[in-house]
Amino acid sequence: MRATALLAPTLREAPADAEVVSHRLLLRAGFIRRVAAGVYNYLPLSMRVLKKIKRIVREEMDRQGGQELLMPILQPAELWRESGRWDVYGPELFRLKDRHDRDFALGPTHEEIITTLVRGDVNSYKQLPLLLYQIQNKYRDERRPRFGLMRGREFIMKDLYSFDCDEKGLENSYMKMHEAYTRVFQRCGLHFRPVEADSGAIGGSETHEFMVLAESGEASILFCEDESCDYAANVERAAQISRPDNGKESMNELAEKETQDCRTVEEVTRFLGTHPQKIIKTLLYETDTEVVAVLVRGDRDVNEIKLLNLLGCLRVDLAGENTIKKVTGASRGFSGPVGLQGVKIIADLEVSSIANAVTGANKDHVHLLNVNPGRDFSIDILADIRIVEAGEPCPRCGQKLKEARGIEVGQIFKLGDKYSKLLGATYLDESGKAKPIIMGCYGIGVSRTMAAAVEQNNDRDGIVWPAAIAPFHVVVIPVNNRDPEQIALAEKVYTNLTAAGVETILDDRYERAGVKFKDADLIGYPLRITVGSKAVLEKTLEVKARRSGEITMVSEEKIEQTVLEMLKEL
Ligand code: ATP
Ligand code: MG
Repeated sequence: MRATALLAPTLREAPADAEVVSHRLLLRAGFIRRVAAGVYNYLPLSMRVLKKIKRIVREEMDRQGGQELLMPILQPAELWRESGRWDVYGPELFRLKDRHDRDFALGPTHEEIITTLVRGDVNSYKQLPLLLYQIQNKYRDERRPRFGLMRGREFIMKDLYSFDCDEKGLENSYMKMHEAYTRVFQRCGLHFRPVEADSGAIGGSETHEFMVLAESGEASILFCEDESCDYAANVERAAQISRPDNGKESMNELAEKETQDCRTVEEVTRFLGTHPQKIIKTLLYETDTEVVAVLVRGDRDVNEIKLLNLLGCLRVDLAGENTIKKVTGASRGFSGPVGLQGVKIIADLEVSSIANAVTGANKDHVHLLNVNPGRDFSIDILADIRIVEAGEPCPRCGQKLKEARGIEVGQIFKLGDKYSKLLGATYLDESGKAKPIIMGCYGIGVSRTMAAAVEQNNDRDGIVWPAAIAPFHVVVIPVNNRDPEQIALAEKVYTNLTAAGVETILDDRYERAGVKFKDADLIGYPLRITVGSKAVLEKTLEVKARRSGEITMVSEEKIEQTVLEMLKEL
């Protein structure tokens, strides 16, 4: 490919609203252009990267026995009504009507369509298991489309669905996808981790997210510092170890204490000269069915996802002032478990071992001292309901947990019989008995993977593509456009490399060499070959590796062979 024929409009500056590095660089290097919030044009350089990622994805899905198909983006509302999701999916679902006033949606995901397909055409255990996938645009009217390709409203996803006879089959399909995902992201040259994630209260059991580690990641993950332990979890999910009671301190007499207008943990600890670890924080939550009191140590935060799962409800929200007043008789900041009536008391594991704690007294401007769980109040449910932090022990091996930011590039999920039951997808087993098909779903954000690769591979000058997904492998730059000998040699190198199967771009633009070098670095070709006067005289070419900056002088006749070898190393 010749640079004069390529649409790769580079920019000196990125628009001010581009917050993360991948967004800035993909815009500046001419890979993408914005059409609307969360909607982009993918320019030719992008297409080349995306094609490579898709190819890797296809090869790894096929290796595990996946079969590619293509389902419609336009999905009739009836199917979504059948699964019950038309009403619960919410404003993220792009909805539209046809000329006959019938409701449709633009597919954010394809469980409804594929389960219906399988319901119609698969009816015997002999046809199972099945792994079916597609690569296609998805539509989600995200509340905050941002970070360029990271969180789009139209984006490219690979979605695979597994269909098995039973849980054992599902386990097998899940393992296959776990392996396939690991291979995909390894082959893309990414530094990533599979992490345990939360599967939500409704449907599904096990799930892992594949996180590319990067500062700009929206997700927070905790992982074990011990390299030999592979524990890693999304912060929503990370578990605490329940530690035994210390039980050393003897219980003192319960006492009331005027605390003026001190409401927060900070205010109370300062006023009383105590530590947050001595405070039992009492928070009232409203769920869709009840009000509950949630107790955590003063220096901890409630993990609302854990709470939601524990209670098996649809929503949990902090109670408002009116509810607090009604339940405790006091205003916000003075709630406590002692004498609290009519609500369940849910305490975090740590709370049970705090001796002589401070709590609210359910009276304005008053706290209680020397509160002892068990003696002064009883706990209805004792469970892990708090957010675990870095530095705490790993629940698997006891070493320290570390924190990192991650970009979710893929997720694998055991659905079980959720959709097959809702949509009536059954099969006949060997004895002729109808059973629900057991499903799993597995997504890879293809366009997000491209952005994540840039987040992880860049420097001051631009993108540094991993060779496996680089838009081109090599750029050949003649230094002086007026020198026919340089042009001739550059043409020759370009033709020979291309013939040897190396994806090469010849920068034949009528630009100064400095401009070409800058663009080459910005776009991020793994290798750059410079053809200057010395190259012509000595028949020796300068090959520069984008990542290391290392320069190798290579004689003209060895260039193809050397470049092929260098690419293998990258
Ligand atoms: P997120 O939590 O980031 O919103 P999700 O859990 O809703 O993502 P899934 O339904 O698991 O996403 O979709 C599978 C994959 O599709 C994700 O792992 C991610 O890589 C990608 N993806 C999801 N939403 C977007 C988006 N708005 N833009 C780009 N890629 C996305
Ligand atoms: Mg997800």
